[in-house]
Amino acid sequence: MSLTTRAAVVESGGAPFTLSDVELDEPGPQEAVVRMAATGLCHTDLGVASGGLPFPLPGVLGHEGAGVVEAVGSAVTGVAPGDHVVLSFTSCGGCRNCRGGHPAYCATWLPLNLIGGRRADGSSTISREGEPLGGHFFGQSSFAERALVDERSLVKVDPDVPLASIAPLGCGVQTGVGAVWNVLKPVTGSTIVVLGAGAVGLSAVMAAALTPATTIVAVDRVGERLSLAKELGATHTVHAGEADLGEALAEITGGQGADGIVETTGSAAVLRQGVDALAARGTLVIVGAPAFGTEVALDVNGMLGGKQVVGLTLGDAETQTFIPALVRLVKEGRLPLHRLISSYPFADIDQAVRDMVAGKAIKPVLVF
Ligand SMILES: [Zn+2]
Ligand SMILES: [Zn+2]
Repeated sequence: MSLTTRAAVVESGGAPFTLSDVELDEPGPQEAVVRMAATGLCHTDLGVASGGLPFPLPGVLGHEGAGVVEAVGSAVTGVAPGDHVVLSFTSCGGCRNCRGGHPAYCATWLPLNLIGGRRADGSSTISREGEPLGGHFFGQSSFAERALVDERSLVKVDPDVPLASIAPLGCGVQTGVGAVWNVLKPVTGSTIVVLGAGAVGLSAVMAAALTPATTIVAVDRVGERLSLAKELGATHTVHAGEADLGEALAEITGGQGADGIVETTGSAAVLRQGVDALAARGTLVIVGAPAFGTEVALDVNGMLGGKQVVGLTLGDAETQTFIPALVRLVKEGRLPLHRLISSYPFADIDQAVRDMVAGKAIKPVLVF
């Protein structure tokens, strides 16, 4: 028996999000129906909606959110109806990286989450008037009042925490925090530099403030975001439009360079500047994604001082342990996510998109 719900559908690449009634397929053995409370908007949604990625359209996007489980498939054991859940990415659970605790590097990550639009068996999760739509986005497609969610995309969370306050944890926040905690792992006295003070970058700043790093530098072109970064734990800021990044970082670090850099802008030029600004044995984490096929040049001899450049997906987090920890920090006020969030009614999704593109909203959250 299928279930009708209201979803934001993108009809074709470059088209707006339009609300439309859709039918969710019956939950498979390892799926659950979730009544969405809130879902965050992320640049990946906009990239797909613009037609920049080969996801099948018309389709339903949305890949971070929070809600309440309404029904579960026959083999679901991790959640039950009534449970509060945060939605994140899915993975196969059986490949080498899944078994090793690195599901973001699942062998089937791309088709299961980003570009497939269907379940692993090829069946569709969402249809409209009998025609299949692109769905199963990150195992969820949560721009909808109800979502059919893969069990591996679900994380059961503390029901005492308001769902709208933790809706963005599953993608952008997890990515920024994971870049610092799971990759850079700053030791006492480290310098951490965050390039780009958007939702991911500011999450990295907040995460760095919870480590023994003593110098935390936020870099952006928007003065307001730099002010916010300072309130969230940055010890220094660099206005990229006014100062030379390399000179500014050299001054802040006494000529040593940065021990860890989180690159969130997706600009190859900024990435190169970051690598040049690393200290000996420093690591730059690539988080921002440019257009497919983008390349960057490196000064090879400059790398010989033990520098590392590492790419990152979703914070390399094991969601079942990582997200509940973040929820607890939000609950205790130690991860003040609300400073990044602007709320919109679900019906105003296009306004939320416009505000995000214009830089007015750092992390729009659609509330149902
Ligand atoms: Zn995302
Ligand atoms: Zn896997």
